Amino acid sequence: MKPTTIGINRMYGDLAYLWPPFDAPIACDRGPSPMLPSLVIKGFHDRLLLSASSSWPRVRVVMDATDLLRKFFERLAIADERVLLLDYDGTLAPFQVDRDSAVPYPGIRTILGRILEAGHTRVVVISGRSTEDLLPLLGIKPHPEVWGTHGWERLMPDGTYFPAGIGAAAAEALDEAQRAIEDEGLGPHCERKPAGVALHWRGSDPAQVERLREIGRANWRHLCRDGALVLTEFDGGLELRVPGKDKGHAVSTVLDELSETAIVAYLGDDQTDEDAFKAIRGKGLAVLVRSENRDTAAEVRLTPPGELIDFLNRWHENARMTIERR
Ligand SMILES: [Mg+2]
Repeated sequence: MKPTTIGINRMYGDLAYLWPPFDAPIACDRGPSPMLPSLVIKGFHDRLLLSASSSWPRVRVVMDATDLLRKFFERLAIADERVLLLDYDGTLAPFQVDRDSAVPYPGIRTILGRILEAGHTRVVVISGRSTEDLLPLLGIKPHPEVWGTHGWERLMPDGTYFPAGIGAAAAEALDEAQRAIEDEGLGPHCERKPAGVALHWRGSDPAQVERLREIGRANWRHLCRDGALVLTEFDGGLELRVPGKDKGHAVSTVLDELSETAIVAYLGDDQTDEDAFKAIRGKGLAVLVRSENRDTAAEVRLTPPGELIDFLNRWHENARMTIERR
């Protein structure tokens, strides 16, 4: 799509009226006005919602979510191949202070079970958790395809398992990172994964969060020299990861296995899902599942659990119609 310049006709609060109006997604490489630098745009036809952000070159406008979803489900209903890609924590399951008790929202297992049983859709869960950690919480039998540890592990529905395979040097560095946190007396906050170590602070007060963040960064910074490991912050903690794979890698791998006409969506909530949103853009629907808006590469936002359950029900109903027509 060709970049275009858009002008602001008038503004009321954070609502800007555009001239000329438009009714299609437009990617912009320039801002709405030199008077308004550092703005990110979420637009609906002739209106734009503006929010402060430093990501200036990424200004873009998206179609009204209702229209976009209606068109998406129309195509889904006549598709030959459908793939539903889902993040777990914060998307299918609400966050819990005790991360081992983060089970799906009520109704999620039922609707995903129906979708899987009907056989009209390939369901793939892509999580930052290890597959071993995730399966009992997901609680769907037989389980769908699962990618764990941000795309490092893959478990197929038939039980075929592709382990992380990170190499000896990276494994040693992760051992050291884990020991450092345990030596600080923070073992219960530390989670070792096949290709990373996480330091969790969900449920801690702000002072404790700051303390954990400082301890994590101080102990792990030197392990990131030369790019051997990378340090990222997620919703509720800090994670030291082996670079080279992320959720975008998992999404791209699955997309490469599909026909050109497959209908695909990725649903996620966290910063780590932005890699997946970017990987699916132009090839499928990127959906942010979150109560609040934020700067994102996703095209649609759903507030969980209500709008999420509606989306999954709509997916099932539209896909089922095709099966029944055959
Ligand atoms: Mg998440």
